[in-house]
Amino acid sequence: MKALILLDPGHGGIINNVYQTAGKRSPLWSNGQQLFEGEFNRAITQGISQALTLYGIDNKIIVPELEDISLRSRVDRANFLAQQYPHHRCLLISVHANAGGGKGVEIFTSRGQTESDIVADHLAHAFSQIFPNKPLRSDYRDGDSDKERGFYMLRKTTMAAVLTENFFMDNEIECCLILMSPKGRQKIIDYHVQGILAWVEQRFRVESSE
Ligand SMILES: [Zn+2]
Repeated sequence: MKALILLDPGHGGIINNVYQTAGKRSPLWSNGQQLFEGEFNRAITQGISQALTLYGIDNKIIVPELEDISLRSRVDRANFLAQQYPHHRCLLISVHANAGGGKGVEIFTSRGQTESDIVADHLAHAFSQIFPNKPLRSDYRDGDSDKERGFYMLRKTTMAAVLTENFFMDNEIECCLILMSPKGRQKIIDYHVQGILAWVEQRFRVESSE
């Protein structure tokens, strides 16, 4: 079926050893490791993209460059690419790592009940299967498993859009054992892919029964 998954790696990457986004990094840990969020976000979106391609699902990383680009440019790119697909078959996922003290994963959608909430539920379900012992930080005020916030990428994009904050880079255990480990990164990729596949399958089922 024709669906388009747009992947948005938050912030900038690393060019010539210079990180493109100030601030978005972990502390320098005692083992000498340090995480730069934009590098992590790119690694995860690339992994998701590769898997979706193998499953035959159209996808596009909307920030292929290492430079950070404005949120407005990101939204413009996403909305432009989405024009070629039926509105309800397009989905944007913005990938981040969290900071500010805490643990676990947060899944955000725009306010109100939309298609994004259905996507978020699929992602939450896949997360709890792949990380059974890790907390999904949720806000159940309106009965679903995501926290709703007015993130720019979620408010301004025309398609269903979800933002994932994947563990805390200022939590030494989560940073060193999950975010900076190939195994941990693969599991983060896997829960995104499984959630996306579940959403695509559900959409397909609904449409073929109409
Ligand atoms: Zn971020």
